[in-house]
Amino acid sequence: MSDPGTVVGVVNAGSSSLKFSVFEDGRSLLDGQVDGIGARPGFRAKDSSGAALTGPPLEGAGPANPADALTWILPWLRSQLGRRRLAALGHRVVHGGAAHDRPARVTLALLDELECLCPLAPLHQPFNLAPIRAALEVVPDLPQVACFDTAFHRTMPEVSQAFAIPFAYAEKGVRRYGFHGLSYEHIASVLPKVAPALADGRVVVAHLGNGASLCAMQAGRSVATTMGFSALDGLPMGTRCGELDPAVVLHFLREEGMSVEEVEALLYRRSGMLGLSGVSSDFRDLLASQEPRARFALEVFVHRVARSVGSLAAALGGLDGIVFTAGVGENAAPIRASICEACAWLGVELDPAANAARAPRITTTSSRVAAHVIPTNENLMIARHTIAALATEGALP
Ligand code: ADP
Repeated sequence: MSDPGTVVGVVNAGSSSLKFSVFEDGRSLLDGQVDGIGARPGFRAKDSSGAALTGPPLEGAGPANPADALTWILPWLRSQLGRRRLAALGHRVVHGGAAHDRPARVTLALLDELECLCPLAPLHQPFNLAPIRAALEVVPDLPQVACFDTAFHRTMPEVSQAFAIPFAYAEKGVRRYGFHGLSYEHIASVLPKVAPALADGRVVVAHLGNGASLCAMQAGRSVATTMGFSALDGLPMGTRCGELDPAVVLHFLREEGMSVEEVEALLYRRSGMLGLSGVSSDFRDLLASQEPRARFALEVFVHRVARSVGSLAAALGGLDGIVFTAGVGENAAPIRASICEACAWLGVELDPAANAARAPRITTTSSRVAAHVIPTNENLMIARHTIAALATEGALP
């Protein structure tokens, strides 16, 4: 029997759910999630063949927060591995601030530093960090690595990161960071193999899922992106508004008498596709709906994506390719078609049959700009980073 490879766990914790997976040398062994945390916790997981796995027994009402959820499943995770040994945990952390341009090994000092960034991402950062701190207490010898959604964008030039507000605020952290970095990094890592002509070129990657953003990549490095200070900016999303005149927020506060919490809930949870359509935040529902407002929501989405592709092409000084990825980008052929048609002026010539068949390349061979569909894999990226970070420190056998 061959020796087991390096096994790492990947954790993506949010306010009410904790998603996890286990990789052995880049191959997924199992994945699952605990959801309904703090309300009615539920557990589901499957192995690499897709077979459902029975989770650990619930103790009392179950995990009350994401930290409890991780300490609850850790012994179970290890018990699933047989003779394999869990070498480390890699965590998705939304914010690495201006300083972190790559993943970092977790220490108490790092956690203290990252906790200072919670005001910049109050809906995500505290929930990302709590399970890391819990694991550090419960299993201090298990190495952990924090992988940041912002890190990939630290190559953006200063002009791309600046807001035109008094510069003192930039020093206090009010600047454009960009997100979905692990997804973009994954795409950059596979381009040399799946679209070699684009690997050194000017590419707009469209990460279109529940959350959505675009990244302008020059030779695999981020030079601009649509998300900014927060993951609320840029494209309209499932329930998030995306780019909004900041005076609208002032209007809500002053004229509508809304509280900060009410504005936050409106912009994060009741806007985007859900707010525009009044039907659903899910693109599948919108595509299937006969409601005129559902169609209108999709038109707004396509309009905003196409406008932003033009804006990022300007940042790149031209465009060689577009890559579609994430739930909508990988699966919604009609949305890809509409975006490509709206980008025809840039030299995008859609091949409708290839698009309908979800071919890797969905533009004609004569198209000046090549459009591709490439699946993203943020968890694999985290697993690779975790192994690389440990190898750098000589922490692997
Ligand atoms: P996230 O990771 O941001 O939660 P995903 O990348 O998984 O989101 O994308 C989820 C979205 O992808 C769903 O809300 C749905 O609208 C869309 N989606 C998934 N499959 C399809 C499909 N076959 N056709 C259209 N949209 C789809």
